[in-house]
Amino acid sequence: MIDVVIIGAGPAGTAAAFDLLSSGFSVLLLDKYAFPKKKACAGGITPKAVALFRYDISSLIRQECRSIKIRPQPGRAFVIQDENPLCHMIQRWELDLFSLNMVQRKGGQFQVVKKIVSIQEKKFHTEIRTSDQLIKSCYLIGADGANSIVRRLTRTFCRVNRYPALEADIRVDHPERHSMEFDFSMPGRGYYWIFPKGNHLNIGIYSTTGHPALKQLQLAEYAQKRFGTDRLQAVRGYSIGVGGYAYRPGSGRVLLSGDAAGFGENLLGEGIYFALKSGQAAARAIVLASADSVSPGVAYAKEIKKIRTDLRLYHLSAKCLYSFPSFSLKLLSLPLFHKKFAKGYADGKTLGQILLCR
Ligand SMILES: Cc1cc2nc3c(=O)[nH]c(=O)nc-3n(C[C@H](O)[C@H](O)[C@H](O)COP(=O)(O)OP(=O)(O)OC[C@H]3O[C@@H](n4cnc5c(N)ncnc54)[C@H](O)[C@@H]3O)c2cc1C
Repeated sequence: MIDVVIIGAGPAGTAAAFDLLSSGFSVLLLDKYAFPKKKACAGGITPKAVALFRYDISSLIRQECRSIKIRPQPGRAFVIQDENPLCHMIQRWELDLFSLNMVQRKGGQFQVVKKIVSIQEKKFHTEIRTSDQLIKSCYLIGADGANSIVRRLTRTFCRVNRYPALEADIRVDHPERHSMEFDFSMPGRGYYWIFPKGNHLNIGIYSTTGHPALKQLQLAEYAQKRFGTDRLQAVRGYSIGVGGYAYRPGSGRVLLSGDAAGFGENLLGEGIYFALKSGQAAARAIVLASADSVSPGVAYAKEIKKIRTDLRLYHLSAKCLYSFPSFSLKLLSLPLFHKKFAKGYADGKTLGQILLCR
């Protein structure tokens, strides 16, 4: 029997797999797609996320952003900056492939599955029935993203809110001259982003209303207005799983991590940091559980306490920002505030650590 099956080979799944393999566990990663594969993601990685990787990802970084332009609506644009990078730009498919290769090099197995049909938790193991086989493992981690089948099939976990985001690449002259940007002129509660990626720009829309129908037309109009082109390439949309501050693992052998547990933050939609952090926490919980005969769910609940506190703070900040955007962005435009935020982000701190001076 395999020690741990992980469903989903994104940042949460590969982070959990890598740490489990380092502790001597056997790991089988299942994903519904072969790699390399496309995944909707703008590929902005904050310093705190970069610091979590167990391997060097510097070869994947296309551009480092030391400044971020904020466009309030109404109001004048202002720039947040630091001497150190505030965000690193990667191509998401490259990161996923790289991480999976690292896991396989460490001895992890990887398999593409068509369909997960059922999941059963027994006293000493779990049973995962796919469309063509039955797999038994001591533990199961559901790291299969915002629409998690593990969450749906086990039915023991809280509801996750799904906030939509839509992205596209555009070609412009001298993309390297553009800065990273969050533009709050979007109607409704959300923003447009512009992320420079070396030879192109990635632009997108993030919405906190949970309304699934973000329109390609809206993004094309924005591109036309800002860059004089509506030729969008590689348009992709998906949801970000948020609300995970309410997630409580049961006492069993199935743990959720990353977007499957709602561990995306809903202020700006950053999810890679929390996916890595919770994947590593799930691995640690399983290592502890098998050594101390404590339930993995109970160990995991302790491990994710700080993540949940952080996510609650992001949630409250999002409420403040999107309910009172003029006031919040005016406050952020004051150097006293934004220098503190920029320094905190560049130093790899979470919002909680910045606000509470932890
Ligand atoms: C448009 C967009 C832009 C974003 N930009 C950023 C950004 O710039 N920075 C940032 O930090 N976050 C960003 N996010 C959020 C970020 O992408 C997610 O939070 C992060 O990918 C979550 O990682 P994960 O490992 O939990 O899940 P995922 O990355 O979603 O990985 C889940 C894996 O599970 C697999 N899977 C799904 N269902 C099944 C199934 N039934 N069976 C088997 N396998 C399955 C998938 O194929 C996938 O490989 C963005 C999200 C979107 C939608």
